[in-house]
Amino acid sequence: MVTAGATGDVALAEKPTASARTTRQRVFSGIQPSGNFHLGNYLGAIRNWVRQQADFDNIFCIVDLHALSQPTTKESLRANVLNLANVLIASGLDPSQSIIFVQSDVYEHTELCWLLSSVTQYGELRRMTQFKDKAGGKDEQVSAALLFYPVLQAADILLYDTNRVPVGEDQKQHIELTRDVAARFNARYGETFTLPQPDIKTAGARVMSLEDPTRKMSKSDTNPNASIALTDDADTIRRKIRRAVTDSGSEVIAAPDKPALTNLLTIYGLLSEEPISAIEARYAGQGYGAFKSDLAEVVISSLAPIQARLAELNDDPDVARAILRDGADRARTRATVKMKEVRERMGLGHG
Ligand code: ATP
Ligand code: MG
Repeated sequence: MVTAGATGDVALAEKPTASARTTRQRVFSGIQPSGNFHLGNYLGAIRNWVRQQADFDNIFCIVDLHALSQPTTKESLRANVLNLANVLIASGLDPSQSIIFVQSDVYEHTELCWLLSSVTQYGELRRMTQFKDKAGGKDEQVSAALLFYPVLQAADILLYDTNRVPVGEDQKQHIELTRDVAARFNARYGETFTLPQPDIKTAGARVMSLEDPTRKMSKSDTNPNASIALTDDADTIRRKIRRAVTDSGSEVIAAPDKPALTNLLTIYGLLSEEPISAIEARYAGQGYGAFKSDLAEVVISSLAPIQARLAELNDDPDVARAILRDGADRARTRATVKMKEVRERMGLGHG
């Protein structure tokens, strides 16, 4: 089996095939089944994944092991994994172009996480912004898994000789850590891992909370009014946008001292595919009310086709299950080859 990254590294390859010689860059993306998938996830991540899908060799992973870093129950985890798979498929991820699978179905992720932890410093993990945000000052009580989160993420990415990791701005620091860990491993044990690049689109990279425009929209935010869920119905979307915080003044403009309006205009522009200046011009002198009610309709009509596909998939869960089973088989085939190499390089096992 040939596993070739675009850097030309061919792990345990036989003779390169024609397709391996013209290998597309490999993309790995992970998303947590941690609750309600929101507009930030869609605009910052999934929509870009779908649009780039044909250009790359894609692996999309539902990272249920990462979800264990926060309190969860068996029932909600199960339900969230299947819901997320349906959301990904409804949003346009296509199993004929991409591998879509659940992280815990491929044991090699957990194993590589442990091995990489031996070349990761405790201090590096404590300094991660996401850890500090999610620990919220309660470092002594949160799970050690929350601290280890970026090591598992590094394992996810490095296991597949990933070249690009399309993420929102919030994940940039974790990708930098992944590169540091990979470089350290390579220096100690020989060239093993490809160093990945973060692929961050400037537009949509950070969709902010509707309740507090200084915080990102987040699945783990306990306030449901802070985000628009992909599954929100029309009335809920209208209500959430109507009550979204705005800035002082009444002009519909994006500016550094208008973070709330900037966020709403960004969402509008991303969905209607118009420059923000055109939207500002349209609402000049009209105040926030007219702008907000039109924004709600733009969101509703953008989500409607996805919601329709989602309803069909929810009615037939075997569709997603079959896709996930096949995806796990394909991911495992690649992961097995890589882990054999890693174990040999580290001198593990009885030899
Ligand atoms: P959690 O709060 O549980 O961490 P999350 O909302 O941050 O959830 P993730 O599953 O961690 O979602 O991230 C999935 C993808 O969505 C990542 O690529 C991440 O960068 C992106 N993303 C998350 N939040 C936003 C946001 N507010 N704006 C743009 N992209 C986002
Ligand atoms: Mg997150």
